[in-house]
Amino acid sequence: MYFKEQTFLVAGLSRSGVAATEYLLKKGATVYVYDDVDDDNVKNAAQRLSELGARVVGRGDLADKAERCDVLVLSPGIPVDHPLPVSFKRDGKRIIGESELGVMALRCPVVAVTGTNGKTTTVTMLESIFRTSGKNALACGNVGKPITSCLDDLGEDDVAVAEISSFQLETLYSLCPHVGVVLNVTEDHLNRHYSMENYIFLKSRLFKNSTESEYAVLNYDDPVVRGFAEKTRAQVVWFSLKGRVEGGYIADGYFHYFGERIFPVNELPLEGDHNRANALAAICAAKIMGVGTAAITAALKSFQGVKHRLQHVGELDGVTFIDDSKATNVDSAVKAVESVKGESVILLGGKDKGYAYEPLFEALKNSSVVHAVIYGENAFRVLNAALKSGYTNVTLCRPFDMAVRVAYLTAKRGQNVLLSPASASFDAFRSYEERGERFAEMLSILAQERVKGEIVDEGGAGETREIE
Ligand code: ADP
Repeated sequence: MYFKEQTFLVAGLSRSGVAATEYLLKKGATVYVYDDVDDDNVKNAAQRLSELGARVVGRGDLADKAERCDVLVLSPGIPVDHPLPVSFKRDGKRIIGESELGVMALRCPVVAVTGTNGKTTTVTMLESIFRTSGKNALACGNVGKPITSCLDDLGEDDVAVAEISSFQLETLYSLCPHVGVVLNVTEDHLNRHYSMENYIFLKSRLFKNSTESEYAVLNYDDPVVRGFAEKTRAQVVWFSLKGRVEGGYIADGYFHYFGERIFPVNELPLEGDHNRANALAAICAAKIMGVGTAAITAALKSFQGVKHRLQHVGELDGVTFIDDSKATNVDSAVKAVESVKGESVILLGGKDKGYAYEPLFEALKNSSVVHAVIYGENAFRVLNAALKSGYTNVTLCRPFDMAVRVAYLTAKRGQNVLLSPASASFDAFRSYEERGERFAEMLSILAQERVKGEIVDEGGAGETREIE
């Protein structure tokens, strides 16, 4: 790409848009920047970038400036059917993402991880495994570190462990990971991708450029992911929780890789079968990259998990608070329900992403969840699904803080309050992180009230009720 001769329009000024702009400016390109949103974060980012040489575009002159640009760098947050990319496409101009810029410039091998759930956990495991083995590796991409901002830290001998989302795959063309991992494909983001077929197609694009020299680490237990084996030229290495496959599996209480014992499954510090599957995927990828068993074992045995994923944040009066705010879809909430030890009162709701919630309530009926407190913008859709499924141990309670309070009052000593909402956070928060932080804050507030004797506990799980 001839940066100096081209004019770029970067649309969307969140983390990746800012990183892309900084990268392009460094390369000597002419860069216009634009965001539909007009909040303080965006204003500050635009101000900083204009000081670096970017030209800030307002809504009024967008069409005019867009016409002057050769390439659109689209943030993953903006759909490809937004009028801006549509106009670029109509004019036959290029649309790429920040990750495309990053991948084009990377000099080291890439291990790329995609899937509906488990990406961040798995790339974080892999980063730790590589580092334990003495190799410089960086978790980058969707994990919160744009690839373009990691380029200076990744030399030829290093490894980029890239988390790749379906949103990024829409505008990613040059990626050819040495190892591509697909963890699972379940219903998610249908409000953005419209159909499961399209979502599956996007995920399969991880292997678009693969040849026989590359590897595809695939989940044998997931029928959609299993099907990817037929679509890729890469060598397939399987992982499975259910049987002995050609790759990673569990037998005799040990993680195995092609017949070799790695370490005892019960020494992985994370709860849940889904985390065992993530560990198997990480073991396969690490082994393919030549990492020894000792480093894999040491890293995974000491892996403490990632914030906001089934994270124990504290206890009050014998009630444990578990933050799984990152569970923004039905499957991840089901996995939480299946993994958490002991009985729980679950907090469900937030911004709707277009799911059917009935499968969640079917799972709750056969689980150790004793009560669901439903809150947020989609509360009535979720409640409807509960009632349709015949799950009546619910309380409807719109505001988040009140919902946490009610969940705590409902839980008995020895039970958990589990925030695993099966919904996005954007109805009331800027991010799932902010929602998780507020959950922890609520625990502190409740603890203080407890000390002052302000909380009168009339709790205990019960029947459907509504709280204003
Ligand atoms: P991602 O980066 O794909 O969103 P995370 O590792 O951040 O994945 O986890 C997101 C949510 O999914 C968390 O609630 C976590 O407990 C759950 N989760 C993690 N791994 C899996 C998996 N393999 N299958 C289903 N759910 C998972």
